[in-house]
Amino acid sequence: MDARFRVTLLGSGMPLPDPLRFGPATLIEAGAQRILVDAGRGATMRLFQLGIPIGSIDLLLLTHFHSDHVVGLPDIWLTGWLGGRFGGRTSPMRVLGPEGTLRLTQHLEKAYSSDIAIRIADESLPPEGARIEAGEFSGDGLIHDRDGLRITCFEVDHGDKIKPAFGYRFDYARKSVVLSGDTRYCENLIAHATGADLLVHEVAMTKPHLMEIERIRRVMGHHSAPKDAAHVFTKCAPKLAVLNHLVLIGDGDSAPPSVQELIDATRQKYNGAFVVGEDLMTFDLEESQIERVIQSRNGP
Ligand SMILES: [Zn+2]
Ligand SMILES: [Zn+2]
Repeated sequence: MDARFRVTLLGSGMPLPDPLRFGPATLIEAGAQRILVDAGRGATMRLFQLGIPIGSIDLLLLTHFHSDHVVGLPDIWLTGWLGGRFGGRTSPMRVLGPEGTLRLTQHLEKAYSSDIAIRIADESLPPEGARIEAGEFSGDGLIHDRDGLRITCFEVDHGDKIKPAFGYRFDYARKSVVLSGDTRYCENLIAHATGADLLVHEVAMTKPHLMEIERIRRVMGHHSAPKDAAHVFTKCAPKLAVLNHLVLIGDGDSAPPSVQELIDATRQKYNGAFVVGEDLMTFDLEESQIERVIQSRNGP
């Protein structure tokens, strides 16, 4: 069996259109399989930077329907259909997610039907490659089991009105990776992430005095503060923890917390190994020690 098992953060950001932190998207490579979790803004550009043909993504998994997690979907789907270096997908793109996935993909197919018809007529692109084969799940469970890769979805807690919201666990070659999805502190995440080799967890932070602003308090209430993520890390004891999907909130004259402040706040509550994610940061689980590689192609 091909033991290659890698995780690459394609986008470590949030809705802010920050060119250094693209929208949420994470690439999982297990043997020959390429799985994308969420399709945030710019996911195609990060795949292109890595030299990965867009059309070679075997499966797209959605965590939830906040737009910053799905706005890149039509780009992945339609750019991956183009030929040549784009990958030229000739079969439908597979998308799996919670309830609402079918509505999203069926309407996208309608929204882009003019382009699809034009390219089939003008460029003779294969019609099958422009289809989306979507599926939905409604609870925790195994959703993929192929060539040694098992993917389990589990519900997380992104707020009372933000449902459904899910995280994912990947088991391959006796190693495991868990992606939290968007969540505040969540016992069900801990149940699924305990003992994972790599735990990628979302995080949000603001300045204490900004919590008096209702809008900011509400956003913070949908996410995990550093102490919450640290608590999850302590309970799950991963070999390496990663803070990702950085929601660092400032307002007016108050700059958002820095990455160093995020590190300090997490370190206060967690003694184990952790890093703050960056776009194109790659984790290689094939090694006995998880290796962290920051691609030099990123950044100015
Ligand atoms: Zn969200
Ligand atoms: Zn989000």
